[in-house]
Amino acid sequence: MFSKIVIANRGEIALRILRACHTLGIKTVAVHSTVDRNQKHVGMADEAVCIGPPPALESYLDIPKIIAAAEVTDAEAIHPGYGFLAENADFAERVEKSGFTFIGPRADTIRLMGDKVAAIEAMRAAGVPCVPGSDGPLGDDPQENLRIARKIGYPVIIKAAAGGGGRGMRVVHTEAALNNAINMTRTEAAAAFGDGTVYMEKFLENPRHIEIQVLSDKHGNAIHLGERDCSMQRRHQKVLEEAPAPGITPEQREEIGAVCVAACQRIGYEGAGTFEFLYDNGEFYFIEMNTRIQVEHPVTETITGVDLIKQQLRIAAGEPLGIRQEDIRFSGHAIECRLNAEDPETFMPCPGTVDIFHAPGGPGVRVDSHLYDGYRIPPNYDSMIGKIIVHGEDRTTAIRRMRLALAETVCSGIKTNIPLQQRILHDRGFVAGGQNIHYLEKTLKKQSH
Ligand code: ADP
Repeated sequence: MFSKIVIANRGEIALRILRACHTLGIKTVAVHSTVDRNQKHVGMADEAVCIGPPPALESYLDIPKIIAAAEVTDAEAIHPGYGFLAENADFAERVEKSGFTFIGPRADTIRLMGDKVAAIEAMRAAGVPCVPGSDGPLGDDPQENLRIARKIGYPVIIKAAAGGGGRGMRVVHTEAALNNAINMTRTEAAAAFGDGTVYMEKFLENPRHIEIQVLSDKHGNAIHLGERDCSMQRRHQKVLEEAPAPGITPEQREEIGAVCVAACQRIGYEGAGTFEFLYDNGEFYFIEMNTRIQVEHPVTETITGVDLIKQQLRIAAGEPLGIRQEDIRFSGHAIECRLNAEDPETFMPCPGTVDIFHAPGGPGVRVDSHLYDGYRIPPNYDSMIGKIIVHGEDRTTAIRRMRLALAETVCSGIKTNIPLQQRILHDRGFVAGGQNIHYLEKTLKKQSH
């Protein structure tokens, strides 16, 4: 096992990684920007290195500075968390070339999954069900593109191969609009991602977002840890996640889980990862793979008892997986609410100083947050300020527990999305379970009328 690692991130995930390191006896180095020197994990870390001014490009995204921090502190490995450099193949490569271990998959795997056309091709070859589509990039021949769309059936969605974060997509409902939409998406993708490659998929109208968590070591062992339902979204951003997904049977879980495990073994995946699927009419359709730890990983940890960050560290250190598939047991139900510093009506980020932060507690309640009384939320980064995760023996208990946990939470001095989360937790459709990815936005629209 490593004796010291660099945590190349901030906020709740940096603290989460630090906590995992502690249980394994690994020393930690926090790297932080000038506005982040009062972060909780910076104070808790064994060493801290200031890597630059607040703009992420000059600090958390500055590869040479992060590698230099690992060099001066004699660290052995770098954990990227999520966001920032977590899915940057060049970063992973440079970390390894500099003699450190990147805590995540190999650079070539990250690169493969970062190109959605290549990822879908690799997944289809590995037997993973994908959305019916163009089977590769779209060419310049308008007639050929019309033929592809006709075969798939409208509506279709044009997506950028290099897209991410919900950007670089366009839905097309009619033949007349197709080629124009392809050209526009191509132009936008070239400008935004430096790669104008686009492809076409069937647009599934009312799917749920269900994803499968996997762990795969460097010795060919892989397991899945079941699914998460992340259908409660606003602007393609997840708001609330839960596990297990309502209505998914143990047989369905085993079947899709086994497909993901086989795919990991086939591509030689190393680390923790997530296969994201759209789920429609009882079928799973792969859309992309995330090659990192995800924000919503705690719901899986809660129902399986597996510490995913500890597993990432063990896998990166070359240890064989200590858990077999048959060891994984799913117990009860978990829900995670993301807490954002934002206006609950307009959704605009609202940075500022937190006067009082009081976290909820009691049996089955977990809070992953870097907040404390007097903490100043800088305007430079993502507005997420933490997560509340609850566990219940069943979904009803988890919902009740989350309602109380939200009511117990005090976060004064700033605006938060707690009122929004409370509305969701009391919404009849949410309580019924199994809503699709458009449900939250539709409900919000109705309520604002
Ligand atoms: P990104 O990497 O930008 O997050 P994804 O491919 O994961 O892009 O898609 C993001 C979201 O866009 C999905 O969660 C879903 O809401 C919507 N989406 C993507 N592909 C389709 C599709 N074929 N049909 C319907 N919705 C889709």
